Amino acid sequence: MSRLLESYAAGRWYAASSQGGVEGDPLLDAATGEEVARISSAGLDLGAMAHHARTVGGPAIRELTFHERALLLKDLATHLTGLKDEFYELSLATGATRRDSWIDIDGGFGTVFSYSSKSRRELPNDIVACDGDLEQLGRTGVFMGQHVYTSRPGVAVQINAFNFPVWGMLEKLAPAFVAGLPSLVKPASQTAYLTELVVRRIIESGILPEGSLQLLSGSAGDLLDHLGVQDSVAFTGSAHTAGILRQHPSVLHGGVTLQVEADSLNCSVLGPDVTSSDPEWDLFVTGVVTEMTAKAGQKCTAIRRVIVPSAVADEMTDAIAARLSSITVGNPADESVRMGPLASLGQREEVRKAVEALRSSADVVLGDPTATSGFAGDGERGAFMSPVLLRARAGAVEPHDVEPFGPVSTVMSYDSLDEAVTLAARGKGSLVGSVVTHDPAVARTLVLGLAPWHGRILVLDRDDAPESTGHGSPLPMLVHGGPGRAGGGEELGGVRGVLHHMQRTAIQGSPDMLTAITGRWTRGSQRTVTPEHPFRHSLATLAVGDTIVSEPRVISLDDIDHFSEFTGDTFYAHTDPEAAAQNELFGGIVAHGYLIVSMAAGLFVDPAPGPVLANFGVDNLRFLTPVKAGDSIQVTLTVKQMTPRATADYGEVRWDALVVNGDGEPVATYDVLTLVAKEA
Ligand code: NDP
Repeated sequence: MSRLLESYAAGRWYAASSQGGVEGDPLLDAATGEEVARISSAGLDLGAMAHHARTVGGPAIRELTFHERALLLKDLATHLTGLKDEFYELSLATGATRRDSWIDIDGGFGTVFSYSSKSRRELPNDIVACDGDLEQLGRTGVFMGQHVYTSRPGVAVQINAFNFPVWGMLEKLAPAFVAGLPSLVKPASQTAYLTELVVRRIIESGILPEGSLQLLSGSAGDLLDHLGVQDSVAFTGSAHTAGILRQHPSVLHGGVTLQVEADSLNCSVLGPDVTSSDPEWDLFVTGVVTEMTAKAGQKCTAIRRVIVPSAVADEMTDAIAARLSSITVGNPADESVRMGPLASLGQREEVRKAVEALRSSADVVLGDPTATSGFAGDGERGAFMSPVLLRARAGAVEPHDVEPFGPVSTVMSYDSLDEAVTLAARGKGSLVGSVVTHDPAVARTLVLGLAPWHGRILVLDRDDAPESTGHGSPLPMLVHGGPGRAGGGEELGGVRGVLHHMQRTAIQGSPDMLTAITGRWTRGSQRTVTPEHPFRHSLATLAVGDTIVSEPRVISLDDIDHFSEFTGDTFYAHTDPEAAAQNELFGGIVAHGYLIVSMAAGLFVDPAPGPVLANFGVDNLRFLTPVKAGDSIQVTLTVKQMTPRATADYGEVRWDALVVNGDGEPVATYDVLTLVAKEA
């Protein structure tokens, strides 16, 4: 008998075999039918796991800032990348070809790397993040509002599907970890041996704090009974299981957040402008064939519905069928194999049933789902199935309702763009759609029609094809999830995926209180005019609120003329008194906005070499009041936010810049962005 998979629970590895007599359910190699492992969660104390996550893992993660968490993720992804041969080897048993494993394994590590770098670039080096701008709630500015994100003291339960045992875990774990949440991962049993191996290597590395990752190998049992209001469940799998989870009392009445990614009948639409001599024709065929065959079509993003203009439907069906018929199906250990088996014989049975249902309103053009021979492998013991292409009959219903989770797609035709949109919408909500056209007007009509029904849309043509990542690849920086049938959830999307896990709270208070709470200087709160210029201070001694108030400076007509001539910006408002007088906003010659900003820099800068290393930009620049020749300006510069970089000996300092005229009216506001050394 093969090894019983273990769970990593409350700080130790747990084997159900320690419960006398438990043998577990066998997990078979998808291609050979040999037993790879056994699985059971019998006797596992799921309540203790949830408790351990909340009391040990969560507090340990939340000791760290967003940047420190992100750096641990980078270490983790680097460590796992060094071990990937071992993961690739075991991945063969899931039926994955090398390319399939690359999507799962390298795709998973890439997602972790991406979360590490995006979180460090876009989140503060703190434990609280501001959302949006400050809102002035009263007349004088002593009562302000600021939305903030904080970490929940809960556990993120992640229930994954069988098709991506590595990526599926990591794409959920990485954003949760940055958000300060411990993960309790429950992989789908069928391929849990690969997830278990990766978790084992993660735990052995000691990179993540104890309690931040636990593994439940086997049935989820009564896990949801142990969850409460600060906990969440992220689920990927069938609509059926999603329905069960949605009705669980903890979700219905207990305040547990449930995020679902379920079935999706994704489509690819060919524009009416494309003929077989256009590059887009071949891109379309390649897209459909790739999505039908990668992971043997067992991808939540695979193209199930091929929507093409009636005029070319026959020709396109033939083109796709011709390409599919050259695909070698078999044991992925054989290097000539392009498409591996389905995950299990049971899964093949499910796909066969789905094709049978589709046949009620579609005809099989290519492939025999019941075949057990003709493969590079044993078709009785391995879950092989050749690609199956169907052609929908008029008024077909099933292709819009039945998800064959395998190498199966149905071609359907349209006569107008409206009809194409209507067909796409009959999927009732999908993760991803693609539109293949080189006509911008067609692209706009189709994308705007499809967008309400989709989480992501790829517009593919000859221009973006060289760098396109394809229809089926969820990317860490773009949202993954879709409305309606697709579950209504949203994951990834860069830092959005982190913030989904956090609580957004509107904080109302005085500017000083908001500065203290957010760690970011708030307009209207105290400024500390330091005896020494703040540019003389490194991050070690600089403080939020440190301020320099410059001397005033008069902007003369000569200054304006000089600036016009020097820069070539001779716009009439700066050079032509009569025309400028006609301008109802200015009523005469005014200074260039950039002259004001440049002079302001001259007023606040401290020129000698020191801890300020560089100015790398300005944000949110607004010109509020025109400055006429003879007006004076004065600038106040205040440290707004300091973000030390964990990987460098400097950090970013964001300064609030306020330029006022002689009457004290604001002339310009902006943030100055600088790099400042950590130590003098
Ligand atoms: P399931 O919904 O059966 O399983 C998904 C996950 O949910 C697994 O980890 C499973 O664990 C777990 N699970 C099952 N029942 C419960 C329960 N009552 N409480 C808590 N967790 C539970 O989907 P499969 O992975 O078996 O795939 C079946 C079908 O789902 C596919 O054929 C396909 O149609 C669809 N699917 C859709 C995906 C998508 O994103 N669109 C992705 C994958 C599948 P265990 O494995 O231990 O039962």
